[in-house]
Amino acid sequence: MANPLTPDVLVDPVELTRTLVDIESVSRQEQAIADNVEEVLRLASHLSVDRLGNTVMARTNLGRGQRVVLAGHLDTVPINDNFPSTVVDDLIYGCGTSDMKSGVALALHLAATLPDPRYDLTFLFYEAEEIDSKYNGLRLVAESRPEWLLADFAVLLEPTYGVVEAGCQGTLRALVRTTGRRAHTARAWRGVNAIHAAGDVLRRLSDYRARTVTIDGCTYREGLNAVKIHGGVAGNVVPDECVIEVNMRFAPDRTEKQALEHVHEVFEGYEVELTDSAPGAMPGLSAAPAREFLTAVGAEPAAKLGWTDVARFAALGIPALNYGPGDPLLAHAPDEHVEIGKIRDGATTLHRWLAS
Ligand SMILES: [Zn+2]
Repeated sequence: MANPLTPDVLVDPVELTRTLVDIESVSRQEQAIADNVEEVLRLASHLSVDRLGNTVMARTNLGRGQRVVLAGHLDTVPINDNFPSTVVDDLIYGCGTSDMKSGVALALHLAATLPDPRYDLTFLFYEAEEIDSKYNGLRLVAESRPEWLLADFAVLLEPTYGVVEAGCQGTLRALVRTTGRRAHTARAWRGVNAIHAAGDVLRRLSDYRARTVTIDGCTYREGLNAVKIHGGVAGNVVPDECVIEVNMRFAPDRTEKQALEHVHEVFEGYEVELTDSAPGAMPGLSAAPAREFLTAVGAEPAAKLGWTDVARFAALGIPALNYGPGDPLLAHAPDEHVEIGKIRDGATTLHRWLAS
């Protein structure tokens, strides 16, 4: 089949968004879209192109002093009666319009039409962001092609509705265990009730005052919450164990280790077992390309509260942020759509920043 990403389409980020949306690319089915993207990137003489699975990388090698990454995932969540795209007034409806083919369209448009940018540019169009992280294309690149990620600054074009969202919070989950001694409830005085002991753990949680931390103008609100509780043996047994699962969301000025130490402090006297954690990412807005980016956007950054792939760059010491035309509240929704004006604004802004 002919590649729908024609030169006419590549010069218009709105047409390009629609065309990308109309190439079906549910996670693990990104081969067709990756083939099309790779093919048009290879036609651009100012780019060198490489591929890992269904992740396509293209970069300039112009000898500029600094390098910037523009990245976006090619996959979408499963189609939900919203394929192919439709246009109603100023809105493009369809699976992936917001999350994040409008963002991918901006990166691909710039890759194809900006042969002489002021920084060296690396474009990453990666697979499998919407599913288990073991498939995540950016994770696979970080593992086996880390040199593709080397840069001074990275922008992920995830939906932010044109707002700059910098850094992200870390997350950890742990099990807090209370113990007791089993006994028949008819002779309960011979036992120690572990579920009753959980009351103190829950009180510490409800009394907990979460920090609010401002870094580089971005305000992060931490949280520590019980998310599950499990205990009990039978209807006539004093239970000897109760397990409370807690989830802490922590500002990026704490490392995973420090966050865990903090959880140990909160639950001093109890057994705490870490189940999983992921680091946060500092906003890193003091790097020169980041400051110039903020000037071009002309807006104050906001904190990203959830965990995103931005943290994968932060783990490599590369400041990164999210900036994209889609509306994050519409991501994964059956009526997912993107405003055509936001796509045009995003293209104009990125062009202003990157043109020399
Ligand atoms: Zn996304």
